[in-house]
Amino acid sequence: MLYLDNSATTPVHPEVKEAMLPYLLEQFGNPSSKYYDYATTAKDAVANARQAVANLLHCKTDEVIFTSGSTESNNFIIKGITDQRKDLGKHIITTATEHPSVLETCKYLQTIGFELTILPVNINGRVSVEQVRAAIRPDTILLTIQWGNNELGTLNPIAEIAELCEEQNVFLHSDATQVIGKIEFSLEDMPGLQAISISAHKYFGPKGVGVAYLKQDAYNLYPDITPLFHGGGQEYGLRSGTLAVHNIVGMGVASKIAATKLKHNIEQLTLLEKRLVELLQQQFGSNIKFNQPSTNKIPGIVSVQFIGLNNEILVKKLAPIIAVSTGSACSSAKPSHVLAAIGLSLNEVRQTIRFSLSPYIELEELNIFKEL
Ligand code: PLP
Repeated sequence: MLYLDNSATTPVHPEVKEAMLPYLLEQFGNPSSKYYDYATTAKDAVANARQAVANLLHCKTDEVIFTSGSTESNNFIIKGITDQRKDLGKHIITTATEHPSVLETCKYLQTIGFELTILPVNINGRVSVEQVRAAIRPDTILLTIQWGNNELGTLNPIAEIAELCEEQNVFLHSDATQVIGKIEFSLEDMPGLQAISISAHKYFGPKGVGVAYLKQDAYNLYPDITPLFHGGGQEYGLRSGTLAVHNIVGMGVASKIAATKLKHNIEQLTLLEKRLVELLQQQFGSNIKFNQPSTNKIPGIVSVQFIGLNNEILVKKLAPIIAVSTGSACSSAKPSHVLAAIGLSLNEVRQTIRFSLSPYIELEELNIFKEL
């Protein structure tokens, strides 16, 4: 069985598993406890993991806040920032292709009095800096713009949008869940990007752990942002709750591996994507149509329309040999809002399948497509 749904989730890397196990068994201490070894070992392990994430993102350790994943990070940042800044304005800007954890959060805020602008995207699923510039108002308090799309792989021009936001003094958050370990960037080089969300399970770490990155010196906001969870004051008072040490350790090791192998993994994903596209073209010719952009994209995401076929039936048929999805795992019951946003008809959406590759796949494994 060839697993090609790596944008939904990835398996835990064997080194990640090995590193996590002791923290489930003998090193079970609570890092907030004091003095005895169980506690200090757990505390040191969390500090090491924080350092590893900071190295991967090129940011300060104090800017790394552990959460349960991107859904929580997106909720925390979007609700926290808008609550903290509500006296300055009520306007939020986002895009049509965001993950539901961003879109639904913004729509919720609309129900309690915020005003929402949802920017449309072009045929490649991308927003332009000009569109963003035109949408910013004097009362805009938050922009939340996805870095890379989970269904199409489209990359938004985040560095340029960050420059604009710095110039205009607007808070910019980006959902970076899909780009980690797949593109090179440094948050140090993007002073206008104040917050991002990431999830460990998208890059060979465990499920249920992620990070909200919050730039420390921007707008003196830290630690005034309203937390999602009030309680014992862990994570600088921004995210209360006993830390999931085993998961955090796992995220740290996954981050270290992602940073070390970044260049190699990007090359491998690019190579695999090229081969997959070739094989699909050979096998299906004019019976398929690609939805993903050809440039400025996350390597390894391929979105294909199988003309005249139903994607649910196709995914079920392929399931014994190739694991793929009709789109985002979180919302596969509903027709994709992302594909609709790039102008696909309902019929075209219903014949689309997403293949998402892993750098650990061997090129030869893709030959399975020759047998379809
Ligand atoms: N944002 C994007 C772009 C995603 O692809 C996902 C997961 O599919 C999420 C957010 C949510 O991540 P999690 O389910 O780990 O909270």
